[in-house]
Amino acid sequence: MKTVAVMGAAAFLDTYGVELAKAINEVKDYWHICWLNGAACTGCTISFAQSVNPGLLEIFTSILVGNSGLPIVLPDYMETLQPASGTLAEELINRWKKGSKGRRILIVEGAVPKKGFCQIHGKDFYEHLQDVAPYADHVIAFGACACFGGVPSAKPNPTGVRGVQEFFKEAGINKQVINIPCCPGNPDHLVITLSAVMLGEKIELDKYNRPKVFFGKLMHDDLCPYRPYYDRGIFAEKPGEEGCRYKIGCKGPMTHTDCALRKWNGHLSYCVEVGAPCIGCAEPGFPDNFEPFYKPVAELPAVLGFGPEKIGEGILAATAAGIAIHGIRHVMSKKSEDREKKR
Ligand code: SF4
Ligand code: SF4
Ligand code: SF4
Repeated sequence: MKTVAVMGAAAFLDTYGVELAKAINEVKDYWHICWLNGAACTGCTISFAQSVNPGLLEIFTSILVGNSGLPIVLPDYMETLQPASGTLAEELINRWKKGSKGRRILIVEGAVPKKGFCQIHGKDFYEHLQDVAPYADHVIAFGACACFGGVPSAKPNPTGVRGVQEFFKEAGINKQVINIPCCPGNPDHLVITLSAVMLGEKIELDKYNRPKVFFGKLMHDDLCPYRPYYDRGIFAEKPGEEGCRYKIGCKGPMTHTDCALRKWNGHLSYCVEVGAPCIGCAEPGFPDNFEPFYKPVAELPAVLGFGPEKIGEGILAATAAGIAIHGIRHVMSKKSEDREKKR
């Protein structure tokens, strides 16, 4: 219980299905969820629907909140999954707004476009958001689009999309957003965050409002199973080859995420493990600041807002130097091995 509450112990990450169900049973009151979709591909809904341990069916039906008899995540309103439409759907959102104060959660999937784009039922998405946000006691942005703009914000960004927190600032809505990025958002991240909110636990956030427990570490530094290859200077030159993915563009050295540990599709695998590079989708500035996706980081002048003048300091330089040193070490040890063989 305590472990779930502090959202972070490794043991919990392994067994969270069982622990989560136990924890949620302790929640006193039912929480009401409104899930809005803005400029999105709906991949985050699909990702959420692929939750395992607990699976979506359990989340919707059998993990009950306290003695309410109601399941943990059954949004009162969710355009993509609810059977209701038209005026009945409007009635659901109005009911959510009138629900119990102190227990209303707003989940937003997708970015917020400027006026005239992303119309739902004759109203711009930003108007829907503006309408419901004041009623929310907690706001969670799920997926890179809702957090920081994501793919729809890529240049030239013709619809002027931005993340929910940025929109709130512009619209004068004084509410903190919990950002759960990645493209798509990871179902574990969402379900555990929801549980912590319902349990009344304080979620420690980083400067981009991401829960530190999921996004507090650089994947490259602490979690990547390919790090030993990096340290030995063994790099894949093309996808599918053995070795660290740095030379095919891996942005793991500057991406704060636990993807390597948590994985996707029922904890089966993740981008780097299937032979691709990490393209930095957990970070603000994705995708523009992480392109080109398949080129090593050292060739990029503007990753994470560092201008060309900053190259030579900080992480980019450290990484470039690291790569060079590891490369040299690798060549040197290979030469030594060859010499040994010849003797
Ligand atoms: S974050 Fe990615 S998966 Fe989710 S809605 Fe945006 S583009 Fe789709
Ligand atoms: S560069 Fe990428 S693949 Fe290589 S160790 Fe770092 S995170 Fe892992
Ligand atoms: S490994 Fe990188 S690209 Fe893949 S989901 Fe995680 S942060 Fe995104």
